[in-house]
Amino acid sequence: MAKIGIIICDRYRGCGGGKCFRALRERQGAFSRYAADEPVEIVGYSGCGGCPGGNVEYVPEEFLKNGCDIVHLATGLVVGYPPCPHIRQFKEFIQMRYELPVVVGTHPIPLKYLETHNLLTFWDQSDMRELAAPLMMESRDIMISYN
Ligand code: SF4
Repeated sequence: MAKIGIIICDRYRGCGGGKCFRALRERQGAFSRYAADEPVEIVGYSGCGGCPGGNVEYVPEEFLKNGCDIVHLATGLVVGYPPCPHIRQFKEFIQMRYELPVVVGTHPIPLKYLETHNLLTFWDQSDMRELAAPLMMESRDIMISYN
């Protein structure tokens, strides 16, 4: 059983989680790492607290109290305009401080976001193709279905 904590970008703090929960159910995007028959549980779901992400310092501790064994940084951190500049630090901090593995991404990238980013100079500079490599390998049809 995977016990997952999700941290979302505070720009999307009002998000109802529709894409993340769909992707988890359908094992798409960064959730394709879990087998279809592997039980999963969301043990925590929180915003980062707003730039520069103050909640990231504390919220994994709450996740741990619920048995969390892996943290996902939501796809909104990857595809916001601009992408979150702190992803690498969040990942390193959570892994070091809480000894929890951190995955960059949750649901597949909606294709319209990827196409816009591909036209922006700061997308290349943001290193997201490497950081969120599994999301980049999603099929075009699935990305379209998340538009
Ligand atoms: S850009 Fe990063 S630090 Fe700023 S609100 Fe979004 S996730 Fe938090």
